[in-house]
Amino acid sequence: CPAPEARLRLVFFGAAGVGKTALIRRFLQDTFEARHRRTVEELHLLELEAGSGLRLRLEILDTSGSYSFPAMRRLCIGRADAFALVYSLPEPDSFAEVQRLRDEILEAKRGAVPIVVVGNKSDLAPAEPDPRIAAAQRDWGCACLEASAKQGRNVAGLFQELLSPVNLPGRLS
Ligand code: GDP
Repeated sequence: CPAPEARLRLVFFGAAGVGKTALIRRFLQDTFEARHRRTVEELHLLELEAGSGLRLRLEILDTSGSYSFPAMRRLCIGRADAFALVYSLPEPDSFAEVQRLRDEILEAKRGAVPIVVVGNKSDLAPAEPDPRIAAAQRDWGCACLEASAKQGRNVAGLFQELLSPVNLPGRLS
């Protein structure tokens, strides 16, 4: 009989240019492009072996500016199982979008959904963390991490965190 299957949809949200596409590309292909190409919307599909013979069908949605339309965003939030909310460490203003998105997700999902807040471009990060961002993250008490799609730093950790509700054997690399 066929192996049992589970489906998990991860959604990457955040302001334009913070590195959503770069993080996903680093995870899927282990490559990095310095050139910025505007993403319309991309859905990546892959299958992973989860624990106990379970096949995991993973969908990774790379969103774009079209999600500035509230109806699009609501639809997308409703269908998602976990969220990566990405901002850029050297551009702290991009954190405002993360705050707004988090509020909207918690309202739509009534709080019961995994959210990982990602400060990307840690290779360009200022030495001192932004105190307002640090304070907001402390209040939220959710998973927050720093990553660099360029250097490949903590990208596996990000996906590990997003997939933590699923019992995957070994670590992602
Ligand atoms: P998106 O609009 O959020 O999908 O952003 P992109 O993934 O297209 O990245 C926007 C720009 O930032 C591109 O020029 C990337 O090469 C660059 N970028 C993405 N991640 C990093 C990173 O970790 N470090 C640095 N230095 N640049 C990055």
